[in-house]
Amino acid sequence: MKAGKVYLIGAGPGAPDLLTLRAYRLLQEADILLYDRLVDPEVVAMATSAEKIFVGKNKGDDMQKRQERIFALMIGHAQAGRNVVRLKGGDPFVFGRGGEELMVLAEAGVAGEVVPGISSSVAAPEAALVPVTYRGISASFGVFAGQPGTRNPAYIDWTAAARIGTAVFLMGVERLETIVAKLIEHGRSEDTPVALIERGTLPEQKVATGTLADIVEQAAHIAAPATIVVGEVVRVRERLLALQQLSGETQWVAAG
Ligand code: SAH
Repeated sequence: MKAGKVYLIGAGPGAPDLLTLRAYRLLQEADILLYDRLVDPEVVAMATSAEKIFVGKNKGDDMQKRQERIFALMIGHAQAGRNVVRLKGGDPFVFGRGGEELMVLAEAGVAGEVVPGISSSVAAPEAALVPVTYRGISASFGVFAGQPGTRNPAYIDWTAAARIGTAVFLMGVERLETIVAKLIEHGRSEDTPVALIERGTLPEQKVATGTLADIVEQAAHIAAPATIVVGEVVRVRERLLALQQLSGETQWVAAG
């Protein structure tokens, strides 16, 4: 029997047509699809001949058990000769445990392949007209986890986050107040502009902007999944919106 293979595929930030062509092809060829909560139903439906298994988080789940179930499903189905697609939001290697999953596959002697996806860390700001780099304003960006990982107590280098041109936080909406306080404590000016983008690239996209001084109030209506972007580049959005208003052009922004 021919052994199967596991494809760790990035589904992109949200909008189904931001999927790569390679991801689309592999979805159509998949025998088994393992997918998370953040993946659009339209993308799940592209796996026309696959058995579809939800492996996303439910409230109160034991994370370790959940991850072990995913490993067992991937390895078991691949060893039984099936092609397995493990679909993840954004890019599999950006806070997606994709690296860990590939490692476990390698250890089990199962063939694995990773397919990059557009990460929300770049695409969500972009969908709100915030470029993470901009000549003369910011020549670096860093992506930080807004939530402590289970094995990572010193999870944010606050000094780096306070100094870098553009700081992007994923999984951080619930901890916005702490993030703001820590950045100010580590020397970032209170005038630094901040944007929160909820469900970026999707029709429901919502954007809130402010500065470190007032973003907690300004973004009170924003909920997960959302990306936080901190830095002067947020002003580019304001400038673009102002120009857009002058010209009457509305096609640059999907929503928000
Ligand atoms: N691997 C993913 C990130 C996984 S962590 C990637 O590369 O995009 C999940 C976090 O991603 C969420 O908590 C949120 O911060 C961010 N996120 C995912 N989809 C998003 C979207 N459509 N808009 C804004 N942020 C999003």
